[in-house]
Amino acid sequence: MTNSAEMPDIWIIPEALALIGEEAIRSRDGLETGGILLGTDDGREIVVRHAGGPGAKAHRESNRFLRDLAHAQQLAELAWKEDQSQWIGEWHTHPSGDLSPSNYDLEAYARHLHDPELSFRRFLTIIVGLTRTGEIMAVAWIVDQETALPVPVAVADDREGTTASQSSPDTDRK
Ligand SMILES: [Zn+2]
Repeated sequence: MTNSAEMPDIWIIPEALALIGEEAIRSRDGLETGGILLGTDDGREIVVRHAGGPGAKAHRESNRFLRDLAHAQQLAELAWKEDQSQWIGEWHTHPSGDLSPSNYDLEAYARHLHDPELSFRRFLTIIVGLTRTGEIMAVAWIVDQETALPVPVAVADDREGTTASQSSPDTDRK
C-alpha cells in the first residue's frame, strides 16, 4: 500500500477535458453520466487523449451509470486508428457531489482489473461533480488491485507523445 512513488504523471488533452465538461453538465438532471477515457499509459506517464460520452443506450441512474458498451467500443476503435489510444479508464459524474469512487464503482473497477482480456494494470477514473453555481469539479483517481488514490491531472497543450523536455515541477515528487 506504499507504492505512491510509482504514481504516474497524468495529462489530459484540452479537447478531452472540454468534452467531459460539456457532457457533465447534463447530470444537472440528478442522474449520473459518463464515458470512457482513451489514451496511453507508458508506465511513467498517462495521457488522456480522448474522452467519450455516454452513448444513446447508456443507463443513467442517480447513483450509478452503465455505459453504452457498443458506443464505447466504437470510440475505442476510432481512437486506436487515430493515434493508438487504448482504453485507460473512464469518467463519470456524481450528482451527490462526493467525488470519491463509490463501492459500486470500486467493484466495477475490480472486475476490470481482474479481467485477463483487458490486461489492465491500473485504471484511471475521473469523478466529476457540479457545484450549486454550475461549476465543474473533478477528482482523478488511480485504481489498482489494492487501492484507489487521488492524483493530480495536468492539462496538456502539446502532448503529441514524444515531447522530450517537459519540465514539470512535480515530476520527482515521491
Ligand atoms: Zn460513481
